[in-house]
Amino acid sequence: MLHDKKGSKMESSLETAQLEERVVYLDYQSTTPCDARVVEAMLPYFTEKFGNPHSRNHKFGWQAEDAVEKARQKVAHIIGANPKEIIFTSGATEANNTIIKGFAGRLITSAIEHESVLEANKSALRCRVEAQGVIDLTHLENLLESSEGPTLVSIMAANNETGVIQPLSDIVALSRQYGAKVHCDAVQILGKAAVDWASLNLDFISISGHKIGALQGIGALIVNERIPVPPLMRGGGQERYYRSGTENSMGIVSFGAVIKACKDLDWSNIKWLRDYLETQLIKLCPELVIFGNKADRLSNTCCFATPGIASNTQVMYFDLMGISVSAGSACSSGKVKVSHVLQAMDVAEPTLQQSLRVSLGQTTTEQEIHRFMEVWQQLYERTQSNLKERIVS
Ligand code: PMP
Repeated sequence: MLHDKKGSKMESSLETAQLEERVVYLDYQSTTPCDARVVEAMLPYFTEKFGNPHSRNHKFGWQAEDAVEKARQKVAHIIGANPKEIIFTSGATEANNTIIKGFAGRLITSAIEHESVLEANKSALRCRVEAQGVIDLTHLENLLESSEGPTLVSIMAANNETGVIQPLSDIVALSRQYGAKVHCDAVQILGKAAVDWASLNLDFISISGHKIGALQGIGALIVNERIPVPPLMRGGGQERYYRSGTENSMGIVSFGAVIKACKDLDWSNIKWLRDYLETQLIKLCPELVIFGNKADRLSNTCCFATPGIASNTQVMYFDLMGISVSAGSACSSGKVKVSHVLQAMDVAEPTLQQSLRVSLGQTTTEQEIHRFMEVWQQLYERTQSNLKERIVS
């Protein structure tokens, strides 16, 4: 039984029964559905304004260029940057690779970064995190002290598995003391928490469209023009030579169509639902571990380990029951592998292998959370009774 904010019981069994017929999506950290405004904004660009933004010798080209530039201005406005500092890319993976591979000097990153940062430079110094998944600032300072020559610090704003938010202004201040440049993978925080990007004064920022309701395959790298970054892809010199290749006009239009709205989203109701979910889980299973729950976290994320049930069993069971969730990061070819994020947080076996990430979206309902709880309880009770049977026999 669900309770509303005032604590009164809600009649949800009918709605829950209806929900059993359809899929419940609770994997918004992985990707989000296309926003209705995106679809509407993109329509003219399929058949009427389909030009190449670099075809500056005719109307179709100008129209497309105009659309790209308008979107660039919107992205710049939200990030507090100059439009010429916005480089559209195929996503945050490309944005991260561009800066990590292109920076001439030492790289300091953290042990909990996305693979697109970690894999782009395997010899980077990796800053430790504390048990709640927050950057260990003392270790960061030690690394900065020991790094000679030009240094780039690349640390994410919020973690994709746990939702833990990093102390960005402290990280920037510390890095500046040692003359280091700073890059931030801001993919997960964009649209989910207020950040004053302009006052943070970062040198580089990576963002991605599909986490905020735009198309998949569009992102941006925000650059400090005073720091030279060689292009990852060379060719026609698009994006002011930072990124050659015909711009993904449709993707860029989709990005522009949602980015303004994502600044004003209200997550308080979703936070209430997430907290409700966590309270219920702990009530039914006090040994359950919620990762990063004592740290500042994104309001929509709950990453937890259920004792006695492996991650892949949980994900498969939920999928069979029509609920889409994820075991940690879903970005690694759909395979469930041990989370490097939880390992960095010193999570031990078997808890390490029992994690599940539930991430809510703006449209997630109480009934959906109720349905999730029902299925989780079924699985948990079934596992407990199997365990008891095995002990008895
Ligand atoms: N960084 C983080 C923190 C992410 O969560 C993701 C996507 N899961 C990426 C980078 C990669 O973004 P994209 O899908 O746009 O390449």
